Amino acid sequence: MTKPVLIIGGGPVGMTMASELVRYGLPVRIIDKAAHRTDKSKALVLWSRTLELLDRGMGAERFVERGFKVDGVTFAQGDKEVGHACLDTIDSRYNYALMIPQSETERLLEEYLAEQGVTVERETEATAFAIRDDGVSAVVQKNDGTSETIEAEWLIGCDGAHSIVRRTLDLPFVGETNTSDWMLADVHMTGYPRSDRSMSIYWHRDGVLIFLPITPGRYRLIVDVPRSPGDQPLTLSLEQMQSLVDQRGPAGTRLFDPVWLSGFRINERKVAEYQQGRIFLAGDAAHIHSPAGGQGMNTGMQDAFNLAWKLALVFRQACRPALLETYSHERSQVGDAVLKSAGRLTAVATLRDPVAQALRNLAGHVLLGWEKVGHALAEQMSETTIHYPESALNGTGRSADIQPGERFAPRESERPAGTGDDPRFVLHAVTGPMATDLTSRFPELIDPILRPLVPGAALTLVRPDGYVSVANNDPDHVTEVLERFGRHS
Ligand SMILES: Cc1cc2nc3c(=O)[nH]c(=O)nc-3n(C[C@H](O)[C@H](O)[C@H](O)COP(=O)(O)OP(=O)(O)OC[C@H]3O[C@@H](n4cnc5c(N)ncnc54)[C@H](O)[C@@H]3O)c2cc1C
Repeated sequence: MTKPVLIIGGGPVGMTMASELVRYGLPVRIIDKAAHRTDKSKALVLWSRTLELLDRGMGAERFVERGFKVDGVTFAQGDKEVGHACLDTIDSRYNYALMIPQSETERLLEEYLAEQGVTVERETEATAFAIRDDGVSAVVQKNDGTSETIEAEWLIGCDGAHSIVRRTLDLPFVGETNTSDWMLADVHMTGYPRSDRSMSIYWHRDGVLIFLPITPGRYRLIVDVPRSPGDQPLTLSLEQMQSLVDQRGPAGTRLFDPVWLSGFRINERKVAEYQQGRIFLAGDAAHIHSPAGGQGMNTGMQDAFNLAWKLALVFRQACRPALLETYSHERSQVGDAVLKSAGRLTAVATLRDPVAQALRNLAGHVLLGWEKVGHALAEQMSETTIHYPESALNGTGRSADIQPGERFAPRESERPAGTGDDPRFVLHAVTGPMATDLTSRFPELIDPILRPLVPGAALTLVRPDGYVSVANNDPDHVTEVLERFGRHS
């Protein structure tokens, strides 16, 4: 019998991983020690790139139907606007931030898995595992007191910030804890003067105050406060949050009916390697950072999109296991970049020195008044600028218009690469001997249906996760990449 892929952790990343693997036909088991999905709003945003990647599988529409579209980010100081970034300039059909509570994202993922016949095995905790050359075995404890040893082909640790997988592998989780305490409030509000279609960040001399719309009239508020002496951050009352809003935010805003009040501390940590043999890490198990920019869950889900098609091609024996090594290399670089930018946003928002604050406000005013800067910020937040410039999956040639490693923006008229149950590369080329030779040479790797030519390159090879692998006029560059990883005849 074929051994499954074992996913430890049924949070948003584990469930995204399972949903991708199962649609590519891999046997999957996914376990979670908790009895239920989260009922908390935690990660509130699905960004453009995540929605594009969801579209290749379970579809983004079911999320869009349940979410609330936000089209901008405003930076303010008291009642004065410092600058604004428009999200509708993002080059994506999802040119907005989709506000959707994590509890709802998880519900939709679990619903899709159930449609595929996969159940998250709850109250099932992984307590130990061992790696062998031909597989992995994991010991799991169930709530009825029984235990089981699961034999798996690969094991993926999607088990969050305190990952047992990471700790068992003894992978250093390098980084630091931010010196402030943070407080979030999921509340209802009246009297708020700004559009509920925009996120707002208020810079104040005592700290930052962030408003994130959830639905009309309901918001997530985040503030930083001086660190409390204990091990745990304080949870403020609604009245204390109200007085921080009065002090730092727009006049006349009234909070009521809190849904969730919680204190948290920001850890910025990451492992260097996301793979050790047959074991992989993804999501918070591999990287945690400031919620500034709302990138944590999105980055984790994109880890899953990156790894799943590679596992599928190796499982089908269409590619050699060396393909899997590109996962850690590519995603660890993205993790570093996200950590850096989230840290920078947090540092800018929490400046304490009055001179630095004045400079920030002035620079913010000047820079964000410049359309290009607002656009660059919007693109970065949307994760559409993520790319893999140093990937071993990149061909050596270059085209003037599109470079290997870049995101291939999905086109309205075409099914994106990696759609359906077959993780194949797609080739943009004209029909003729050059294209026919390539598709017949790599039948398991290249989709036989050619796509329209991309300006500037006679051949554009796009990976199943929608990133350009080769873009130039020479078929040898396509052959070179596919021979590097493929088991060709
Ligand atoms: C207050 C707050 C606000 C946030 N806001 C945002 C935001 O706006 N945007 C964003 O992108 N991110 C945000 N995040 C981060 C986001 O919530 C996380 O990045 C996301 O939950 C990570 O998903 P995950 O699946 O990797 O891990 P988790 O959600 O932590 O899931 C891990 C799962 O593994 C299970 N597990 C752990 N150990 C075991 C074991 N031994 N055996 C079996 N199961 C196990 C756990 O029960 C859990 O269900 C926020 C986080 C917080 C706390």
